Amino acid sequence: MNTRSQQLFERARQFIPGGVNSPVRAFKSVGGTPLFLRDAKGAYLYDADGNRYIDYINSWGPMILGHAYEPVVTAIQRQAASSTSFGAPTELEVEMAALIVEMVPHIEMVRMVNSGTEACMSAIRLARGYTGRNKIIKFEGNYHGHADSFLVSAGSGVATLNIQQVPGVTPAVAQDTLTAPYNNLSVVEDLIDEHKGEIAAIIVEPVAGNMGCIPPAEGFLEGLRRLCTREGIVFILDEVMTGFRLARGGAQEYFNIQADLVTFGKIIGGGLPVGAFAGSRAIMEEIAPAGKVYQAGTLSGNPLAMVAGYTTLKELYNHPELYARLQQKTSYLVEGLKGVFGIGNIFSQINHVGSMMSVHFTEYPITDFVSASGANNELFKKFFHAMLNRGIYLPPSAFESWFLSDALAQEDLDRTLEAARETMEEIA
Ligand code: PLP
Repeated sequence: MNTRSQQLFERARQFIPGGVNSPVRAFKSVGGTPLFLRDAKGAYLYDADGNRYIDYINSWGPMILGHAYEPVVTAIQRQAASSTSFGAPTELEVEMAALIVEMVPHIEMVRMVNSGTEACMSAIRLARGYTGRNKIIKFEGNYHGHADSFLVSAGSGVATLNIQQVPGVTPAVAQDTLTAPYNNLSVVEDLIDEHKGEIAAIIVEPVAGNMGCIPPAEGFLEGLRRLCTREGIVFILDEVMTGFRLARGGAQEYFNIQADLVTFGKIIGGGLPVGAFAGSRAIMEEIAPAGKVYQAGTLSGNPLAMVAGYTTLKELYNHPELYARLQQKTSYLVEGLKGVFGIGNIFSQINHVGSMMSVHFTEYPITDFVSASGANNELFKKFFHAMLNRGIYLPPSAFESWFLSDALAQEDLDRTLEAARETMEEIA
């Protein structure tokens, strides 16, 4: 029963475009009514009708420790009683920056912003200012937020809604965004040759999480690094999803790769709206007021957001064993699902890296946007709804990654596999 969610969705559509404040939430590609959520604790969500779900979205990544994690809640409460915003420097943001520099390899300075979009948008501006060049290369099906220059061949909601050209993005902006298939180095080399000396930055998701979960092919990230070094291009790793999720030091640590700039969001805010971009002193000091590349924010470094983010990062810093645990939980689920789909004779590809994973129904490996787009969406829809009916909350699009939290217990994973078994009997 989701009567209350249905009523709320109807009312929401009167006042909010499409009834939601971010498109994928509307369940457009799977159909049906999005659940309106009321509470969450640990691994569980509770909707407006009082139903309980095991959560595999985790707010699209941030809630790695689970919902309403005690130390984070207490820290926010304490801070709220002191001040919710100063718009002035605080000791807290200095400690936050120092902790990030300690955790993440190859960075010396950090600037805090309010979202992953802002982080990526600012990193691109900085790369352009630093190199004096205009063009960027991004990858088809990668998503770096909703700033104009990223909405060319974008993943996530843009892919889910199948929007080929986003109205409002001017041709001039689009022209400066060159695109290549994910995991395809030779196209990148061709683009660089064609636009010699014009490319400011290559921005990439080190594990693509916006067309399902797609790992980088062997040598792909290293190849990009090599090309950037050779051509004086700023290499930007978009770690909005992977940062503090794959490892304490994100993809740079996990894959032993060095970026020139990294962008963060999601986990870095501990469930509050935060983003950040970071890099070497030489590049970061081009940012105003140290340098002239302008970037600012009324609520940047907001104390509530800083305290939530700092407490979360500190937990991860103090408990590195959590990453092995998360990886084990993910592998258990992946192997279990493979078994279930195997019994049902259903072709499936389950990609996973760390605690990110996704399911595509196809016999072909999912390595880029074209292969991800070729999977069976009708079957995904049925799978999604049958799982939801059994209390399992999965991303409502095959173009999104699942994110596991440390709050998931063995019995949650087993319950999920049991639901998948029942689902297969229903839909196979
Ligand atoms: N970069 C990546 C890799 C993302 O997955 C997202 C959002 O999902 C963003 C950037 C944009 O972040 P935000 O939604 O916080 O603006």
